Amino acid sequence: MFIPALKTRTFYDWFTPLDGCHRCGYPYVREPGYWLVPVWIIGFGNSTACGAVAALIAHYCFNLDLIWVTIVGSATTGIVAFLFARHAKALFLALDLYFDPED
Ligand SMILES: [Zn+2]
Repeated sequence: MFIPALKTRTFYDWFTPLDGCHRCGYPYVREPGYWLVPVWIIGFGNSTACGAVAALIAHYCFNLDLIWVTIVGSATTGIVAFLFARHAKALFLALDLYFDPED
C-alpha cells in the first residue's frame, strides 16, 4: 500500500505529480513513459489550440500587426501550457482510469 510522505508542496511539484492517491493508494504512474500522452497530446495540443485561437482573435478582431499577432499567440501558448500542465495529467489519469480500470 502506498504510504504518503509528509512534505510541503513547492513550485517544483506543479510539474511533478504525486506518487499516488493519499486516500486509496492508487498509483498514478502505471508504466514508464506514462506522462508522455498527457504532456504532448493533451497539454501541447490544448495550449497550441488556445494560442492559435488567441492569434486569430488578435488578427481578425483587433487588426494587430503580424509581430503582435505572433507575440499574442506565443504568449497565450506558453501561459496556457504552464497553467494546464498539471490538469492535463489529471485529465489523462481520469480518462485512463475510466476506460481501463485496474483490478
Ligand atoms: Zn484515491
